[in-house]
Amino acid sequence: SKIIIAIDGFSSTGKSTIAKQLANALDYIYVDTGAMYRAVAYFALKRNLIGDDFFKEDELVNRLEDISIKFKFNKAVGFAEVYLNGINIEADIRTLRVSKFVSPVATLSAVRSKLVEQQQLMGKDKGIVMDGRDIGTVVFPDAELKIFMTASAETRAKRRYKELLDRGHKLSYEDVLENVTTRDHIDSTREDSPLVKAEDAIEIDNSDLTIKAQLKTIINLANQ
Ligand code: C5P
Repeated sequence: SKIIIAIDGFSSTGKSTIAKQLANALDYIYVDTGAMYRAVAYFALKRNLIGDDFFKEDELVNRLEDISIKFKFNKAVGFAEVYLNGINIEADIRTLRVSKFVSPVATLSAVRSKLVEQQQLMGKDKGIVMDGRDIGTVVFPDAELKIFMTASAETRAKRRYKELLDRGHKLSYEDVLENVTTRDHIDSTREDSPLVKAEDAIEIDNSDLTIKAQLKTIINLANQ
């Protein structure tokens, strides 16, 4: 029978790569919760509610009801893309600028409770692979399988750097490394739902593991 698979971990540990392929292999739905926080950050940037030297937190909280986030499966790419108020923003949320403002936005309790509620609804019929920072601890504390992915900081920054270069972004490795470590710090020290490994999560360090090997391990665990 179908289960809930929660995949958590620090930035750029390869969670979404594995989660997507896992969902395809098991014929489950994949939900990228980071995309939802990024969508809120993107909205805040667009409306000038956050910037390099300001953050109008109360105004953002007051406008949360103007934010509708949906996922729509795109056959051509093989995964669900994220929509903000009906507009596909999949490419817009992957920039370093959005990456820079997403963690401060994700500290707000009102933002978290709105998104967590929506995530819990998406998992009500099971058969879901969800990745993020608080899936095994907060969103689905009763998930049948919880994975906590880790990798060395260098491995992670290199992966993210290559990914952004491949998408045509112009940036330096140092900028990417700085963003990854800053986000990890904010994510693990925030008051509401900090990033921690759930007690019953299985930790996988994939610094030296192929995608194939990771998939095999997780599929075996899911079938137990
Ligand atoms: O997964 P991704 O790196 O795209 O997530 C972007 C940011 O969104 C994280 O650094 C974190 O601040 C926030 N996030 C979160 N809780 C989640 C998923 C993402 O706080 N479940």
